[in-house]
Amino acid sequence: AVKRQGGDGWRFFSGDLHEEARQRLALTRGLRVALERDEFSVLFQPIVSVTSGRVAGAEVLLRWTPSDGPVSPAVFIPVAEKTGAIIPIGAWVFRQACLAAARWATIFGEAVPYLSVNVSTRQLDDPALADVFEATLRETGADPSRIVIEITETALMDDVDANLRMLRRLAELGLRAAVDDFGTGYSSLAQLLRMPVSLLKIDREFIDGLDKRRDSRIITSTVIGMGHSLGMRLVAEGVETAAQLAELSAHGCDYVQGFYFHRPLAEEAFIDIVRREIAPFLTAPDDPLYFL
Ligand code: C2E
Ligand code: MG
Ligand code: MG
Ligand code: MG
Repeated sequence: AVKRQGGDGWRFFSGDLHEEARQRLALTRGLRVALERDEFSVLFQPIVSVTSGRVAGAEVLLRWTPSDGPVSPAVFIPVAEKTGAIIPIGAWVFRQACLAAARWATIFGEAVPYLSVNVSTRQLDDPALADVFEATLRETGADPSRIVIEITETALMDDVDANLRMLRRLAELGLRAAVDDFGTGYSSLAQLLRMPVSLLKIDREFIDGLDKRRDSRIITSTVIGMGHSLGMRLVAEGVETAAQLAELSAHGCDYVQGFYFHRPLAEEAFIDIVRREIAPFLTAPDDPLYFL
C-alpha cells in the first residue's frame, strides 16, 4: 500500500496499516507507565582509548523490558520522541548517568571513565532541560566534566540557533557535548565551528565500510583530520574487526567503541573491566592493542 504523506513525500507501508497503528498505540501506552513500573535499565558500553588501549569512558544505553519481553531502542525511542515521553525518560537516564559518575568517582578517583549520554532533539527543545540537569548534578554530586551529552548530527543541525543556545547553557553547567552519528547528516563546517562540541562520533556506517570501501576510508580520514583541526576528539562507533581498528589507528582516531572490544555491559561488569585494566595491563603479545 502507498499512502500520501505530509505533502512532500510518499511513504511505503509493507504491512497492514491497522496493525502498525495498533502496535504504535500499545508502545505509546506502555511507555507512559514504564518509569513508574521500573521497566527501564541502562547498560554501559566501554569507549577505548586507541593510544593506551584502556577504557576511557562509557556510552550509557537505555534498555526497556516490559513484562512481555525487551523492546529495542530503535523501536521505542522514536515513539518516545514523538509522544514526548522521552522528556521524563531522558531525565531518568541522565540521573542514572550522574549516579554512576558519583559511584565511579569513589572507586576510581582521578582515573574515572567519562559517561556519554544520548539526548534527543525533543529534550534539547525543552526549555527546562538545563535546569533539570543542573538540579540532578547538584543532587547526585556528579562531576559534570566527566559527563558528555551526545546529540545526533541530524538533530543538532535541525535548528542550529536554538540548539546552540541550549548547548551553551549545558556547557555553563560544565557538561561537554559530542556529535553522534557524524557523517550521516549535512552539517557545514561553518555550523560545526560555532558549536561548543568536544567530540565527534563517526557513524558506524563508515566504520563498517573501512576495510571494504574506498569512499568510507576517505570520509573517515577526512572527518578525523577536520575534527582534530577544530580541536575535537574523534570516537569511532561500531568497531567490529582488528582491520578496522588498524585503519582507525593509522588515521589517528582517538577513541573506539564497538563489539570488537566490548558489548554494552551491566555496571558491575563494566567496573570489573576497568579495575582489571588498572592492574597489570596488556600482557598478551597477540592482542592487537599491544602494538599501539
Ligand atoms: P547510538 O547512540 O548511535 O548508540 C550506538 C548503538 O550502536 C547502540 O545500540 C550500540 O549497542 C550499538 N553498537 C555499539 N557497537 C556496535 C558494533 O560494534 N556493532 C553493531 N552492530 N552495533 C554496535 P542500541 O543500544 O540498540 O541503541 C540504538 C540507538 O538508540 C542509539 O544509537 C541511540 O540513538 C538510541 N538510544 C539508546 N539509548 C538512548 C537514550 O538513553 N536516550 C536517547 N535519546 N536515545 C537512546
Ligand atoms: Mg550515541
Ligand atoms: Mg551513534
Ligand atoms: Mg547510531
